[in-house]
Amino acid sequence: MAVVSINSQWCKGCGICTAFCPKNTLELDQGGKAFQARPDDCIRCGMCALYCPDLAVTVDRPRTKGKISQQEVQA
Ligand code: SF4
Ligand code: SF4
Repeated sequence: MAVVSINSQWCKGCGICTAFCPKNTLELDQGGKAFQARPDDCIRCGMCALYCPDLAVTVDRPRTKGKISQQEVQA
């Protein structure tokens, strides 16, 4: 399952996300667009989304059990 979504319309292929990913999961494809080549290695740190200058990256961060429990308490 994809952990990181990259908007190919916004990605300009600068390679910043590939350089900052601590687990080296991102690569540029033949068209110069970033994609997640090794999603199983992603630790969801968010560095790629933080440093993308074009806001093209979204990281899917699942809610923790603690947060879900807190929401259930407030419901
Ligand atoms: S940092 Fe953003 S614009 Fe640059 S390659 Fe990665 S997704 Fe594309
Ligand atoms: S969330 Fe972190 S580990 Fe995953 S692709 Fe982005 S920079 Fe790499």
